[in-house]
Amino acid sequence: MFHNVFGPVPSRRLGRSLGVNVVPLKYCNFNCIYCQLGRTKHVINDLRMFYPPEDIIRELEIAVRTRDYDYLTFIGDGEPTLYAGLGKLIQWARDNQDKPLAILTNGAKLIDENVRAWLSELDVVKVSTDAGSERTFRLINRPPHRDITFDKFIEGIERFREVFSGQIWTEVMLVHGVNDNEDEIERIGDALSRYRPDRVYMMVPTRPPAEPWVKPPTSDVLMNLARVLSRYVNSDRIFIIDYIERGGVSYR
Ligand code: SF4
Repeated sequence: MFHNVFGPVPSRRLGRSLGVNVVPLKYCNFNCIYCQLGRTKHVINDLRMFYPPEDIIRELEIAVRTRDYDYLTFIGDGEPTLYAGLGKLIQWARDNQDKPLAILTNGAKLIDENVRAWLSELDVVKVSTDAGSERTFRLINRPPHRDITFDKFIEGIERFREVFSGQIWTEVMLVHGVNDNEDEIERIGDALSRYRPDRVYMMVPTRPPAEPWVKPPTSDVLMNLARVLSRYVNSDRIFIIDYIERGGVSYR
């Protein structure tokens, strides 16, 4: 029985994903209104050694030999780049197995040079960009530390892009009445132009959110916003995950 390693689980984007959960519930540097894990209980922005890396490596040694997977994916029940042992795990995975490596992060710690160096060893880095302005950033992601500003957040991803040869995938979570308007999408488009993601996933909240008033935009609004965004990102890099009116997931 493993404590940190799980799966593989089927992932729409990563195939069979062998997961490594490196952060306990819910240590995060954001407090997103749509978070399916609820409100952030432990607001931190410094790195913590939540688990001895050797314990996780012991699980990985067994899992990579005995389980059939397409990606090894680092995640957290919070923000995985807040784990001080992450660099060691990534290096171990690079040296001891040959499947591609991914992380699902909000991207805010990419302003930290050490974190950029760790993540540059990965194949796919999934970040979030739900806002195109400081005001909307504070409304939707609600970073509790005042030193995490929108400009620094985008600057971190931009600096990472300069050194990273793998793929950056971006999730844009759209929330009715918060960021689902053309002006904000134009500003998000500007931000994406700065770091040039390889893919953009336009998402809507579907699981119970941290704040009960959070609602998705309609499919029509979503499709229109995708058209606006395609002025900034080539449309063949935009994927819409539309759960609303079709009763399922669709990619475009
Ligand atoms: S960054 Fe992720 S874990 Fe943190 S609050 Fe936002 S959705 Fe939740």
